Amino acid sequence: MNNENSLITNVLHSDRKLEIDTRPVQYPIHATLHYAFDKVEDLIATFQSNPGYAYSRQGTPTTTALETKINAMEEGVGTVCCSSGMAAIAGVFLTLLKAGDHFICSHYIFGNTNSFFSTLMRFGVEVTFVDTTRVDDLEAALRPNTKLVFSESIANPMTQVSDLKGIGDFCEKHGLIFFLDNTMLTPVVLKGSDVKASLVMHSLSKSMGGHANALGGSITDTGLYDWSNYPNIHERYRKDDSKKWAITQIKKKYLRDMGATLSADSAHKISVGLETVELRVRRAYENALGLAKYLEQSPYFKNVKYPGLKSHAQHELASSLTGGNAYGFLISAELSENLDMKAVLNNFKTIILASHLGDNRTLCIPVAQTIFYEMSQETLNNMNISHNTLRFSVGIELLLDIIKDIEQAVEAH
Ligand SMILES: *Cc1c(COP(=O)(O)O)cnc(C)c1O
Repeated sequence: MNNENSLITNVLHSDRKLEIDTRPVQYPIHATLHYAFDKVEDLIATFQSNPGYAYSRQGTPTTTALETKINAMEEGVGTVCCSSGMAAIAGVFLTLLKAGDHFICSHYIFGNTNSFFSTLMRFGVEVTFVDTTRVDDLEAALRPNTKLVFSESIANPMTQVSDLKGIGDFCEKHGLIFFLDNTMLTPVVLKGSDVKASLVMHSLSKSMGGHANALGGSITDTGLYDWSNYPNIHERYRKDDSKKWAITQIKKKYLRDMGATLSADSAHKISVGLETVELRVRRAYENALGLAKYLEQSPYFKNVKYPGLKSHAQHELASSLTGGNAYGFLISAELSENLDMKAVLNNFKTIILASHLGDNRTLCIPVAQTIFYEMSQETLNNMNISHNTLRFSVGIELLLDIIKDIEQAVEAH
């Protein structure tokens, strides 16, 4: 081995001090784990006061760029991105609640969120589930140790719509945090602050990113909650603007403790996807309304659930929340008893059999045998889910092509 040869040293160090002085239209992907400092004072300041970057578990400039975009969409005071939607939900609960705290939760939530809440209970956090399509039940669930109310906007798979404005007023009146999972509507249709949510999260893996190529999640503080008297903020984060205390604690402590950080590569993909989010979701929602109307009049389907249909139990509520022209991309519908569900689904040529949601492509899945596979028959009956219940996540194809695919699948069978 030739110890005189600087080849490896040159490979490692020769490009480090090149200036990065161009203005790329797409924000660069910071494919680095850590950052070098010319002066030790700057290194120290990054730990003690400056918002800079030292190690990528606590974020990269690429994730900050995405956070800036989402924060602008929500008009928030701060946004943190996480490695998935579940990581974002976990971030809020693990950072802002502690053993002995209680929260109120909608009955109608994503199954994996429900699963996470059962984990939280093992750590001494208490929860009461209520029907959030109306606010009457909230008052009865209130306890002296209640800190937060959690709800989604439109539920998966049966599309119940929560009375978000009612929940927002209730939380304001009782000084509670309103944590909204708004994955289904996106800030294109409804911002967290429109319904007085204190914190709003999105699974960026769904229609925000839209292209089914990156997992991600975001948490935005809308600035409506006053954290100055909230007990679970560490002394260290009680500095400067109190509106930012919670989001700072999530960013500084949750990402550091749990490492649920969004990668720069995924942040870039989601950021590119976001450029077209309004065009995509508006088209998907329009398609979904058209498809729901088609399914409702089709002799092959019954129990079609879509908040945009007049027959939907919360149609008026959904219209008042969304301005009456955007009811999400999710439809549930029951295939008629005299059709063989598996044979029909296997005939799809365009519609994809898959469990994801909010893709550009239209997806379909039978609910009882898959996402609700672990549920008891009693739970399925209570939720009105039969072995022929299908969930559609409507994409941005030509609506007529989706309808034709369903028609040929039913007729070929
Ligand atoms: C998918 C989803 C999540 C979880 O998001 P991931 O990015 O898959 O972790 C949370 N809430 C809702 C409503 C979702 O649809």
